[in-house]
Parts: sequence; structure tokens; C-alpha cells
Amino acid sequence: MGQPEETNLAIAQRLPPALAPLLKAAGEAAAELKLSLYLVGGALRDILLHRPVVDVDLVVEGDAILVAQRMKDSLGGEVTVHSRFGTAKYRRGSLSMDIATARKESYAHPGALPTVSRGTLLEDLARRDFTINAMAAPLSLPHLGLVIDPFSGQSDITRRLIRILHPKSFVDDATRILRALRYEQRLAFHLEDETETFLRRDVGMLSTISGDRIRREMELVLTEEEPELALQRAQELGVLQSIHPHLSGNGWLREKFSQARKETPRNLLASVYLALWLYGMNKNDMETLLRRLKLSGRRATSIVDLQTLRAKRTELSNPYLLPSALCRLLDPLHPAAVAAAIVACDDPIARLNLQKYLRQLRHLRPALNGEALREIGVPPGPIMGQILQGLRQARLDGEVHTREEEEALVCHLLAERTS
Ligand code: ATP
Repeated sequence: MGQPEETNLAIAQRLPPALAPLLKAAGEAAAELKLSLYLVGGALRDILLHRPVVDVDLVVEGDAILVAQRMKDSLGGEVTVHSRFGTAKYRRGSLSMDIATARKESYAHPGALPTVSRGTLLEDLARRDFTINAMAAPLSLPHLGLVIDPFSGQSDITRRLIRILHPKSFVDDATRILRALRYEQRLAFHLEDETETFLRRDVGMLSTISGDRIRREMELVLTEEEPELALQRAQELGVLQSIHPHLSGNGWLREKFSQARKETPRNLLASVYLALWLYGMNKNDMETLLRRLKLSGRRATSIVDLQTLRAKRTELSNPYLLPSALCRLLDPLHPAAVAAAIVACDDPIARLNLQKYLRQLRHLRPALNGEALREIGVPPGPIMGQILQGLRQARLDGEVHTREEEEALVCHLLAERTS
């Protein structure tokens, strides 16, 4: 390990100005407690790369929880404590920072969660994933402005390299394989040669990782600006195949992800990416993968619903499909599956139908709601539901346009039932 390296970087000045009072309070709290405090991980990496800093992680040689509590005493705010890990989150208004006790780790077996104990800053840096994430900047005098860089992360930043810290890194924790590709593609870096060799050698170690952890890393890939780059790289390196033999990240995906960014509402994008990613798989393979990744809820529904839509391609390509029929087809499915089908589908008529549904038809409601119907004299019970449905259909298909026309229709429907 090298010695702290002096730089003339004004690290603190490059942090988001809004965080300045928090960092100052953290520095003072640590000084009062006679503890050393450091900025670590992604924030320091991004400062050195002149990229915007999003999250700030601090490490204390000593008890991080005491530092966070002292910050609260001086600044107010809130502290959430994880005593088991010796970490604390300090929040004030919309700002927050994570403060961790420096720790060392050992792995009982590949893929196991590490056994953690208190350690020095250098031990804390040595447990990290890549050299560019294994640097620290002291936040208190007299070392303010230094970068502690025991693994030559700064040199790797200059050479644009992703490098692991030791040959067993991917064996200890194979989630680092996905992390490596995520950083490589996000930063337009390259895997350092030996790191790539170890990655290819250890790709099978992904089988030692629990479904929850793999899923979390896959979801992180999908939050990147252009996730398709990391997926294509993962395919080239055999990474996807070791998660599932038929999981792919090919050129189709590249084209469709880019299209998805243009056509998909922001709140649905992550689910749309995931559904498109698994679109090429057959039902059995997909079910196996969903089980392996312990995928459930909204995300799993979108994936399964997109497959359902694939089977309805012929109906969706009908240019004369009534809006009410379109809604009957699509209402039971998750909107993210509809958004993904717009991207996956090449038939222009089907695309138009799907777009019309997603943007317009699914939001369309009759002017009369349940309460208004009760006032007209519709009795509560199943008949109320049927009339509401009839009204929506009539609205969708343009048979009624105004509240008065809806009221007339309700009277007509009621009369029909009683005659
Ligand atoms: P991002 O910009 O993606 O948020 P980050 O570096 O802040 O990047 P986090 O996932 O928040 O990433 O992790 C914080 C730090 O913790 C990393 O910089 C890295 O040093 C360390 N770290 C995270 N995951 C691992 C891992 N699996 N193995 C070793 N170190 C890790």
C-alpha cells in the first residue's frame, strides 16, 4: 500500500454547495470526538472525474453513530442508525449523507455476505470493489486536500481503467462483475487486462449469489443512462449467460432501449427496460429466471403481461378495433407492459392502438360517477357496476359525448332492465 498522496485538489469545494454546512458539522463533530473523518467511494471518484456528485458517503475511524448524533445535536435534523453495521444516515430537509464506521471484511465462502468487524481506513478501502472507488479524502485538518489512494485509483482514473484490488475479488463477491460493467460503460472506461481475465475466469461465480442480490445489481444496471451498453458487454463476456443461458443483451435490445427512452413515460422506464430485456425468452425460461431472481410484484407482472400481449398481436393490428374492445384487451394488463409493447412491436397499426390506449383511452372516464348514478336512482349492487361499465364503453366508442347524453343512456339502461 502506498502513502497518502498530496494533491492540490480542493475536494471540499467541488462538493455540492448545499452540503457544505452538513460536511462542516460532520468535520466538527468528528474533531470534537477526536476521530478522523473521510469522504470515500463514488463521491470522491466523481469529483476527481469532474462529474456531478449525487450521494455522499463518509467513513469514520471510530464510531460513526456518535458522529451522526453529535451532528444532530448541533444542526438538528434526523439520524437513522444501523447499530449492527455501525452506520448512520443523517438527514436534514432534503439533504442526507451516509456515515459508516471504518470496517474490515472477510468472506466465509464465495458469495456469502461478508463477516464485518471494525477496522482502519486502509482496511476499509481494501474491502472495496475497484481502485477508483477505493480512495478517501480527509475532511478535517490537517490533511484537508489530500487524497489517500493506496491502490492507485487516481492513476486508473487517468488511464480510464476499472481494476479490482486483488485476484480473488470476483470470487469473494461476484456482484462486482455486474458493477464492473456498469462503471465501465457509464464512465467510458475499460476493464484493465488482468481484471478482464479474472472476470472471464470467475463469471460462473454468479451462481453463488442470491437471487435478491443479483436482481438488485441488474436493476442498478437498468438505472444507467444507457443500460444497453453494459448489457451488450455482459453478453460478450458471458456474464448474462451465467445468470440464465438464454438471457441476452444483443443488438435488438440496443435499438429498442434507445427507442424506449424516447417513447416511454419516465415512471415506467425501468419496468419497460426489464420487460424488453426478457422479451426474447420463452415462457419456461422466463419463469425459471423470475424464480431465480425472486422477481415479484409490479416488475414481474409487466414482464408476464408483455408476453401475453405478444400473443395478442393479430387482434392489436386490427385497424377497426373499437376503443372499448381495445380497453377490454388492455385494461387487465400493467401499463408498463403496454408501454413495452409499443417499443417491441413493429406493426404500425398495433403501435397506434397501443399508444392511443396508453396516452388517452385508459384515462377516459364517464362524466357520471357512482354517486351521480345513485342520485339518478341507480340502486347499489352489481347493476351499478354494469351501468358504469356501459357508460365507459359508450364514452370510449363515441356513442355519448356529454353528461346529458350519459344521463339519457342511464335511464335507457335502467328501463331496459325493468321492462
Ligand atoms: P454509484 O455512482 O453507482 O452510486 P457508488 O460508488 O456511490 O456509485 P454504491 O453502490 O453507493 O456506489 O457503493 C458505495 C461504495 O461502496 C462504492 O464506491 C464501493 O467503494 C463500495 N462498494 C459497493 N458495493 C461493493 C461491493 N460489492 N464490493 C466492494 N465494495 C463495494
